[in-house]
Amino acid sequence: MKLTIIGSGTCVPTVKRGSPANYLQIGKKKILVDCGPGTVRQIVNAKIDYRTIDMVFLTHFHNDHVSDLVALIWALFCTPGFNRKNDLILIGPVGLKQFFEDSINLNKDGEQWSKNKKIKIKEIKNKIKFEEFSVECNKTIHTKSSIAYKFIEKDRSLVFSGDCDYDDKFINFSKDANVLLLECSYPNSLKKKGHLIPKECGLIAQKANVRKLILNHIYNYSSGKIRVDQTKKFFRNTVLAEDFMKINI
Ligand SMILES: [Zn+2]
Ligand SMILES: [Zn+2]
Repeated sequence: MKLTIIGSGTCVPTVKRGSPANYLQIGKKKILVDCGPGTVRQIVNAKIDYRTIDMVFLTHFHNDHVSDLVALIWALFCTPGFNRKNDLILIGPVGLKQFFEDSINLNKDGEQWSKNKKIKIKEIKNKIKFEEFSVECNKTIHTKSSIAYKFIEKDRSLVFSGDCDYDDKFINFSKDANVLLLECSYPNSLKKKGHLIPKECGLIAQKANVRKLILNHIYNYSSGKIRVDQTKKFFRNTVLAEDFMKINI
């Protein structure tokens, strides 16, 4: 599988970092994990064809992870000369159906929304299997419904933490992953409930025995280098996510 980081930041806009979004290619499937503000434009900037996205996975319903979903759907169904044939599959925690209805209602103006929408919505509880890969989820300490995802293709695995806090169950969930993409919202000196700091990120990666750790969901409090250095004290193979970074897994 091939990962492209679309947005390595948060809800706070910066020139350097877009809001949370990741693009994943597994075999022929093209997948988005989270879809924060500005994602569709970022995808275009990454020279990825947004029209070919098959699935969108959402980790939770905070605005910085979901607000461009409606923009993506508008783009898919309004691009001149493009007639989308495949369903768009939306996958997320329990509550996704309600969230989708609310978002659509919020953006409803005229008939456009009631026609030709080929969208399938699936609320994931434990595991979901596709032809080429499977996906497991794990509840995270962040919001009532927030989840992390593990994408598994043959003997390779990639974990997206979404937003989360330190938790033994999450360590277990991430066990032996090839790549762990972990939120690292704040520096060590600014621990906040429901988010991680570098020391915790390093400990999670170390205890889970992952191969590689990528820090993302970075608030602009301290330099990236400090974040990575603080994490490396506990787990050496750590890198800082950057927008448009590509990783083969
Ligand atoms: Zn959140
Ligand atoms: Zn967030």
